[in-house]
Amino acid sequence: MIIVNFIEQLPEIEIYKDAPLDEIAFAQVGGAADFLAFPRTEKQMSDLLKTAFQNQVPIHVLGQLSDVVISDLGVEGLVIITEKINQMRVEGPLLFAGSGKDMISVSEFAMQNELSGLEWAAGLPGSVGGAVYMNAGAYSGMTSDNLKYVRVLDIKGEEKTLTLDDLHFEYRTSAIQRDTLFVTEAVFELSPKSKEEIRLKMDDNNQRRILKQPLHLPSNGSVFKRPEGYYAGKLISDSGLQGVQIGGAQLSTKHANFIVNVDGAKAQDYLDLIDLVKHRVLESQGVKMELEVKLIGRGLND
Ligand SMILES: Cc1cc2nc3c(=O)[nH]c(=O)nc-3n(C[C@H](O)[C@H](O)[C@H](O)COP(=O)(O)OP(=O)(O)OC[C@H]3O[C@@H](n4cnc5c(N)ncnc54)[C@H](O)[C@@H]3O)c2cc1C
Repeated sequence: MIIVNFIEQLPEIEIYKDAPLDEIAFAQVGGAADFLAFPRTEKQMSDLLKTAFQNQVPIHVLGQLSDVVISDLGVEGLVIITEKINQMRVEGPLLFAGSGKDMISVSEFAMQNELSGLEWAAGLPGSVGGAVYMNAGAYSGMTSDNLKYVRVLDIKGEEKTLTLDDLHFEYRTSAIQRDTLFVTEAVFELSPKSKEEIRLKMDDNNQRRILKQPLHLPSNGSVFKRPEGYYAGKLISDSGLQGVQIGGAQLSTKHANFIVNVDGAKAQDYLDLIDLVKHRVLESQGVKMELEVKLIGRGLND
């Protein structure tokens, strides 16, 4: 039960009530957030967290919603979207980026400044904060490779700076996930290289993404993590599931580890396909599949 009206308590911050999230989620599914806020500064984000904590209101911090399934029943409490915390600058080899900046712009900004290290992120959907939280990666690179430190807020809105050693990065996870911290800024340490060389690598990575991924349809990227020694997509297709559709959601015919929204899917269609994959792959290949996407909202174990 929400016992605080954020709109009255924090009038200087852009906040909406009962705000639909399917319109902004990459997969285009899900219900409404009780409250949805777009802080412009770290101070505003801290004020939101403090107010929510003091009033025991559940909090979710999201970036571009490219790696989440939002419950059809919506999200209880306060959802903070970081997209307006999006400053970017370069100082020598260091690139500073606000948590809401999208990784595609960050990798292009690095290229413009003749700084190498983020070529892997060409074409990667999602924000800086989401990339740090997920330790996103592609084409032999990942977020942790070039990260120097991140600035975060804890659940009470208190600020901290964490170095690479504090972050305990592993495949698609970090201390940010385990310790419930919220990223406000990331600092990458990059190395000099010519714009042309960087651009070539980025174009190549983009091309590979276009060839392999069903980018013409709404999705949330790879649904399952890569189990050690296997490829998730191959396990799914070897289990005879590629192309299977439930409601408006389908295990993509182009990349079986993507669930695409082909026809006005509900979050429940995504969840039913996830269950089907887990059961069938375990039964037919003996492999336990672990979710990469995060399930957010009422009735989901997030
Ligand atoms: C077409 C497509 C292709 C993709 N390809 C790849 C790929 O090649 N490699 C890869 O790794 N991923 C890939 N993804 C998944 C996604 O791009 C990444 O996981 C991305 O980093 C998520 O960022 P986001 O801002 O969208 O996070 P969201 O989806 O908004 O959130 C994801 C999780 O991060 C948390 N989070 C977001 N921002 C913050 C913050 N500031 N502080 C703390 N926690 C935060 C959220 O609470 C949530 O649990 C793909 C997705 C799509 C749709």
